[in-house]
Amino acid sequence: MVYIGFDFDQTLGDFESLFTIFPTKDSPYYEDIVEIFAQKEMSRKPFGVIDPRIVKLLPSLKILKQSGNIKAIVIYSNNSSYELISFIADVMGYIAGDRNLVDKVAHLTYPGRKSPAKTVQFLKRLISEAKGIPVNRIDTKEIYFMDDQLHPDLIHKLQDRYRKVDSYVSEATATEVSQYLSQKLMSKQKRTR
Ligand SMILES: [Mg+2]
Repeated sequence: MVYIGFDFDQTLGDFESLFTIFPTKDSPYYEDIVEIFAQKEMSRKPFGVIDPRIVKLLPSLKILKQSGNIKAIVIYSNNSSYELISFIADVMGYIAGDRNLVDKVAHLTYPGRKSPAKTVQFLKRLISEAKGIPVNRIDTKEIYFMDDQLHPDLIHKLQDRYRKVDSYVSEATATEVSQYLSQKLMSKQKRTR
């Protein structure tokens, strides 16, 4: 049984094209856009905003979680937008077929974070909050983390369970993504009217 942590930017995807256009949870179209965006990323012609390798991996993560092999999945990011990370977590859940796939997300100014340095102590706190497990019962040997940057405390304590990945870069543009989403949204609304 393991806990999985992911960095956000350049690890799960390249989200620059979404910065100014992603929907927030108070949008009446939030769920529609989650669905449209997820289906596009699952299609044969994805935006590639989420790394296609991650898209491919998500259904397996769902199965591993359902079988109890993975106890929690968290996103631990230095991105300052909690809303953007949450949107992507919802899209990932949609793709996986389990909207609760990601248990918890933390952004740069998440309550209690003192610096951008990522630590095992904070990672355990996140898992603890997500799962209601006391921090001292979370075994460091069961934590895996994936990141495109080097975080010394995590590397030191997780050792080979720290997986450094190449920085993922997407070619998607904000114009392309927003045009697609608004077009699909409009035709969806026409159909349901
Ligand atoms: Mg990163």
